[in-house]
Amino acid sequence: MASAKYIFVTGGVTSSLGKGIISASLAKLLQARGYSVTIQKLDPYINIDPGTLNPYEHGECYVTNDGAETDLDLGHYERFLNVPTSQANNVTTGRIYQTVINKEREGEYLGKTVQIIPHITDEIKRRIQLLGETGEFDIVITEIGGTVGDIESLPYVESVRQLKWELGSSALSIHLTLVPYLAAAGELKTKPTQHSVKALLELGVQPDILVCRTEKPISTDIRRKIALFCNVNVNAVIESIDADTIYDVPLLMYKEQLDKVVLAKLKLPLQHEPELEQWKIFLGKLKNPLNEIRIGLVGKYIELKDSYKSIAEAFIHAGVANEVKVNLEWIHSEKIDEQHAAARLSGLAGVLVAPGFGDRGIEGKIEAIRYVREHQIPFLGICLGMQCAVIEFARNVIGWKDAHSTEMNPATRHPVIDFMENQKNITRKGGTMRLGEYSCSLVKGSKVSSVYGKHKITERHRHRYEFNNKFLKDFEDAGMTASGINPDTNLVEIMELKNHPWFIGVQFHPEYKSTVENPHPLFVKFIKAAMEKSRQS
Ligand code: GLN
Repeated sequence: MASAKYIFVTGGVTSSLGKGIISASLAKLLQARGYSVTIQKLDPYINIDPGTLNPYEHGECYVTNDGAETDLDLGHYERFLNVPTSQANNVTTGRIYQTVINKEREGEYLGKTVQIIPHITDEIKRRIQLLGETGEFDIVITEIGGTVGDIESLPYVESVRQLKWELGSSALSIHLTLVPYLAAAGELKTKPTQHSVKALLELGVQPDILVCRTEKPISTDIRRKIALFCNVNVNAVIESIDADTIYDVPLLMYKEQLDKVVLAKLKLPLQHEPELEQWKIFLGKLKNPLNEIRIGLVGKYIELKDSYKSIAEAFIHAGVANEVKVNLEWIHSEKIDEQHAAARLSGLAGVLVAPGFGDRGIEGKIEAIRYVREHQIPFLGICLGMQCAVIEFARNVIGWKDAHSTEMNPATRHPVIDFMENQKNITRKGGTMRLGEYSCSLVKGSKVSSVYGKHKITERHRHRYEFNNKFLKDFEDAGMTASGINPDTNLVEIMELKNHPWFIGVQFHPEYKSTVENPHPLFVKFIKAAMEKSRQS
């Protein structure tokens, strides 16, 4: 196979323009034309990875099969492309510097002064080309986090400048900007775009394509004006108008012919028209649901919805699979207690208790689970949500009032959730959890085995604590059974209730694996059970 082509995506004017969605949409179109594409995100912060970041800082931490803790944009890449990403798809400044500094300590640069150019930029360039060199991909899209002009982005833009020069027509750059509408003037304004492109030009990068975020259609005159001031062809000024859903964006980009312009510039054939039939069917169902249901999402980071990005998207996929609109009600776990549980939860068709860390809001999660268990409301507990279901059952059904996870109460006499033996000596925080894909055997005749329709699954993990097998018999005798077990370690991965229409807690994160093409069976069947519940009430 010929060597890979590279597309660099930068952003200007402001953050949050949606570089991730534009990158994923372009990748989708190129994939639908028969190319194999991957997307990489470079993040200019100094953390080695986002694993140590509070979700309020940066939204959800997404986990790949190979156990990398990554930026949530990788979730979009996987949901759009239905192809797994890996550690190589997300690189931070921290990781770049760590590699260079380690090499320096090992004497690799002996005698040399280690500098941003060329040492840091060479490491950035190496990381960008790593995916291309695997031979798996025709096209690698590299999204550069942050906004052009930020001090911390400079080494990345410099690396793009060098690579564009070295790779010639095998590389191009797309710059995403904002064309704001000024109500007072009644006009769209191009000046921020002009300035942003100037900032890039000062750093030596001439963008080949401009994608302009806008709330109103961009006229031909305005496109001409932008083209003239920014040295790009008129057909390379792409309008990216606000959309109802992120899943519209690939089709909007197709209308704007972004894929055609890209392929022409990379000197690649158009191959065939993009095969987007499945995507269009998905969108049709998304926009024309036959019904609606209310699902509660109980968590403690709900002020920032990005903290639960993959869960919210998995619900969209599962809603489409059931042709129902899932109205998520975000419920703060700190606002639930015995008195308020009914007011907050009654009438919901299903409740999901979210993953999380630490003590805050834990009693509210447990109380919410008591309510749904007693009221036969379908329940899906993810990671900490599953652990809370175990604690609730131990306290209120088995009768161990002090049952807890040793994460919250190290002194409990009933540590039903406990630290794993091999984690006990770990004191460092970054990258030390049980991370990534592990296999799980499903018990024959269990609810989960019918949900998945098979007996062997693999799912992604991100946690330190586990169900304590010492207590398993007590749970099973009382009606909560371990229906998914890790065949290699015997760790419990799934708990379910016998006397309940649909009550499943999973130690792993099914939400990371749900894509447009492959909605996750746990979410699909949970919504199905919730529809059943709402028909009854
Ligand atoms: N805090 C729990 C643990 O570390 C659960 C983690 C999670 O929900 N991702 O085991």
